[in-house]
Amino acid sequence: MIPSAAPSFILKAPRASAIAAPVLLDSPHSGFDWPADFQPAAPHSAILTACDLFVDELWSDAPAAGATLLAATFPRAYIDTNRAETDLDPALVDAPWPGPLAPTDYSRRGMGLIRRLALPGIPMENRPLSVAAVEQRITQHYRPYRAALAAALDAIHTRHQVAYHLNLHSMKSRGNEMNVDGGAPRPDVVVSDRLGTTTDPAITNWLAQRFRTAGLSVQINDPYRGGDLVGTFGQPARGRHSVQIELNRALYLDEAVGARSLNFNALRATLAAITQDFCGYTRSLSTPTA
Ligand SMILES: [Zn+2]
Repeated sequence: MIPSAAPSFILKAPRASAIAAPVLLDSPHSGFDWPADFQPAAPHSAILTACDLFVDELWSDAPAAGATLLAATFPRAYIDTNRAETDLDPALVDAPWPGPLAPTDYSRRGMGLIRRLALPGIPMENRPLSVAAVEQRITQHYRPYRAALAAALDAIHTRHQVAYHLNLHSMKSRGNEMNVDGGAPRPDVVVSDRLGTTTDPAITNWLAQRFRTAGLSVQINDPYRGGDLVGTFGQPARGRHSVQIELNRALYLDEAVGARSLNFNALRATLAAITQDFCGYTRSLSTPTA
C-alpha cells in the first residue's frame, strides 16, 4: 500500500489571543490536493462542482474567535467523509467487498462513499476501482479525517463539558437531478440537524436567527436534513451538539468557473462576525475546567 504523500487534514487550534470556546468547525469537502492515485475519467470542471470550494477559507477567521477549525485536504470526489463507511455501491469495485455494506439513498443517487457520478450523466470512472484502491482511500484519508474530528471534539468536551460542532458545506444555487430538491432555487443558508436529533434545537434556531439578522435567507432541514457526520458526532444527550451549515455558492462563487466572486470577502467578514457571536453564546452555556 502506498502511503499518502500529504496529510489528509489541517487542524487549527484557537488563536492564543482568543478565549477558547467549546466550538469546532469542520469543512470536510473543501480540499483540493489531488492524491496521486486519483485519476478519474470525469472532466476536472465536473469534479469541481462536487467540491465545497473555498469553504475552509470563508470560515478561516474561526480560530481568532476562539474556535478550532478542521479542514480536509483531499477532494470529496475522491472519498466522501460525510458518508458512512458502509455506504458504498458494490458496482464501483471490481471484486466482492470484504466488509459489511449498507448502501443508502446517497449511493443510489451516485454520491455515496465513492461517487459513481460527477454530475448527472457524467460517470467519475470508466471502470470499477480495485478493492485495494478503495481501501487505500479509507485508511489513508477517510479514517484519519474522522479520527481527527473525533479527537478534537473529545478534547473540547473534556475541557468544557460540552462541544458544539458546526459541519460546513456549500450548495449549488440550484440542485440537479442527483439532488433531493431537483432544480429548485435554494435559500442563502440551510441549517440542519437531522430533524432536531443532532443538537439541542435551541442551537439550530440561534444559528438560523443569526444568519437572518445578517440579511441572509435561511431554511431549516429543507432541502438538506444533515449528513452522516452530524448524524455520527451529534449526540446532544452526551453534551455533543452538531449542526450542518450549507452556504449557497451564489453568495461567494462564480459558479460557472469555480472562482471567488466579488462578494467573497464581504461574506467572509459576515461569517467571522457570526462565529465570534456563536463562540460568545456557547461560552455562556459551558463551564470550562481549565
Ligand atoms: Zn459538502
